[in-house]
Amino acid sequence: MTTLQQLISDLERFATERDWQPFHTPKNLAMALSVEAAELVEIFQWEDGQRPFADYDLAQQTATRHEVADILLYLLRFCSVTGIDPLAAAVEKMRLNAEKYPVETAKGRAKQVGNVAD
Ligand SMILES: [Mg+2]
Repeated sequence: MTTLQQLISDLERFATERDWQPFHTPKNLAMALSVEAAELVEIFQWEDGQRPFADYDLAQQTATRHEVADILLYLLRFCSVTGIDPLAAAVEKMRLNAEKYPVETAKGRAKQVGNVAD
């Protein structure tokens, strides 16, 4: 099983072998990450949102998997060049979200469903 740290190391080696480190600035990586997220959105752009993902054809499922990979890889590369620990950041944000959206006030409220990564 590949770990996040292995992926980060593999990305570092991939960039080093190609002399791409000068291009991997936080700005460039953040922009690339945004483009990849948009590519994921594009797959679902004109869907009605009701069809289960398992019913998508194989090409759509493969394209989705590849965009997920692109997003993760750019995010990890961004974290590597900025020194951000992605797991520690996620744990920190989950704690803040739990404080911001207590179960007593947020449970079952659709308005707050999309705000888990606000
Ligand atoms: Mg892509």
